[in-house]
Amino acid sequence: MSLYHSDLYKDALAQMEVAASAMNADPNVIERLRYPKRAITVSIPIRLDDGTVKTFEGYRVQHNMTLGPGKGGIRFHPDVDESETAALAMLMTFKCALVGLPLGGAKGGVRVDPNQLSRQELQALSRRYATEIGPFIGPDKDIPAPDIGTDRQTMAWIMDTYSQIHGYASHGVVTGKPISVGGSLGREEATGRGVAYCVNFAYEKLNKKVDENITVAIHGFGKVGMPAAVDLVEQGAKIVAVSDVSCAVYDPSGLNIPKLIDWVKERKLLKDYPYYDKITNAQLLELDVDVLIPAAIDGVVTEKNMKNIKAKLIAEGANGPLNKDAVEYLSNKDVFIIPDILCNAGGVIVSYFEWVQGLAHFFWDIDQINKTLHAILKNAFDEVYEKAEFYKVDMKKAAMIAALAKLEAAMKLRGLFPG
Ligand code: NAD
Repeated sequence: MSLYHSDLYKDALAQMEVAASAMNADPNVIERLRYPKRAITVSIPIRLDDGTVKTFEGYRVQHNMTLGPGKGGIRFHPDVDESETAALAMLMTFKCALVGLPLGGAKGGVRVDPNQLSRQELQALSRRYATEIGPFIGPDKDIPAPDIGTDRQTMAWIMDTYSQIHGYASHGVVTGKPISVGGSLGREEATGRGVAYCVNFAYEKLNKKVDENITVAIHGFGKVGMPAAVDLVEQGAKIVAVSDVSCAVYDPSGLNIPKLIDWVKERKLLKDYPYYDKITNAQLLELDVDVLIPAAIDGVVTEKNMKNIKAKLIAEGANGPLNKDAVEYLSNKDVFIIPDILCNAGGVIVSYFEWVQGLAHFFWDIDQINKTLHAILKNAFDEVYEKAEFYKVDMKKAAMIAALAKLEAAMKLRGLFPG
């Protein structure tokens, strides 16, 4: 096992190399971007409710901080490892650069199944993890946020732990916090809302419109999938399937999204939902729908199932849900793929707003948040679309080219320390 062994890391690296060669990027810049700047592994011993002590392994990886402090979520999931974390940190570098944020790329995680821990055990885990990575995070260093298996409560615990250690309330140390401890309006729905904006931008380019004729399947009905569903339903689209880790619920005439959200928010699984047909996650991905939104985990569309995918528009809500071969194959079949570093960037954009508001101790209203989010994403989408036309490549490569161009310019200007 090493930092570089995972398929996700190899895939992120390969995506970068392909884009670098298409745009003729400076090889000395690319050489530096192949490796994370800093990667730490920490032990997190906690006392379980039964009195025994159990130790978990956690990570924080800072990939590149040329543009600003590190930014990236914290994942609590049994499959977390240092290489997956490094790959996700690398994707964050490209995402922040692409949408023009003054932030670098980072990511963290703990190898744990949060569903097996009580609330008290989760609190202990979050606080001890925050303490162990404490020297490396901070408003000017690296600012974590929620990801799979973590939420605003986790962020409140981390903010409090950091604040206790430093002796004052630090609003800028994490984003995705509850509003009452310095969170931002609109942050919770931001990633999903951004996905819905991007679906609209893509349809504009294709001279189509989101309306009641559009069917959608959402793989992963969590913090990204749920708000994306809400916004698309508001525009008239029919969500015919959504899934969680247990299964997918399916109704070709459209699902009642608010009722399903109530169910999931009570921490109940979709397999126990009393209505609708149940299908597998794999079947959901292959449904004959207009829009597929993979918003759960990485690597769900690969050479194994890419030939069975029927959607003509794929919005990558998750990070890395399609591997390189699947992107190549489906793009050649004229499937419009909205790449992850663009499609799910709404989260980090509003996290950036939250960080700015925390540093300024001045908070914006929701109209300003949504208007600015829309403007930044629209700009980035148009830029990626133009790059795709100019270089005659798919949107995925174009997004990487746009991100690399910005990083290359900044890295050359700052130079290589010590010279
Ligand atoms: P979440 O924990 O809120 O939801 C994840 C969903 O995926 C849940 O429905 C869960 O049951 C399901 N899931 C988990 N493992 C699965 C599996 N093996 N097969 C099928 N379904 C599975 O997480 P989230 O915050 O919504 O994140 C989802 C994806 O979006 C991740 O790739 C994350 O990195 C990415 N992302 C999240 C944000 C954010 O703001 N939360 C921002 C950008 C990208």
